Amino acid sequence: MKLAIFDLDNTLYKIPKGFDEAVIANIYKFYKGYFGLKDNGEVSKKIKEFRAEYGSNPRAFYCKGGLDAYFAGIFSSVEPAEYLKKDEGLAERLSKLKMKKAIFTNGPDFFADKVMKALGISNAVDYVQYGNKCEPKPGLGGFRKIMEKFGAAPVQCVMVGDEEDADLAPARRLGMRTVLVGQSDSIYEVLGVLDGKKV
Ligand SMILES: [Mg+2]
Repeated sequence: MKLAIFDLDNTLYKIPKGFDEAVIANIYKFYKGYFGLKDNGEVSKKIKEFRAEYGSNPRAFYCKGGLDAYFAGIFSSVEPAEYLKKDEGLAERLSKLKMKKAIFTNGPDFFADKVMKALGISNAVDYVQYGNKCEPKPGLGGFRKIMEKFGAAPVQCVMVGDEEDADLAPARRLGMRTVLVGQSDSIYEVLGVLDGKKV
């Protein structure tokens, strides 16, 4: 493998409960204001519709317009450093991995940078593809940008993520290998597998 591509949230770290709750509260608030929805039930319905049609909510706003407003509404008021701790071991393990490393997040740059800083992994990867700088997952545009950046063919790439539909299915469609990070197995186990080149 030439290039390992990692999803960020719930892949390189587990989202703590309070962090998740703060983001979800903002999602509901944003949808109500943006679409004039009355209650949480209407918001849930809209979110499901968007997922079904576009694969993810960021990709829905990318296709329909309004992605910057969506990201600002959801992430501007959340401070990752309040919820996350430095993971020294992770930075070290990523740095030692004998292939190029990229992160592909559906989150925006201003937020993902804070998450990576809080985890202490900002300098442990070679490239970050942000959700506000490409077609978000499960679109193929972001994956293509990453491959182009490294001059890598799909067969030289492995995609690591926690969401089958958003992270892995599109990568596989392009011809990449994929690794699913489950709720119970840690990213360290996955990095061990990549280290042993058993992919
Ligand atoms: Mg994820």
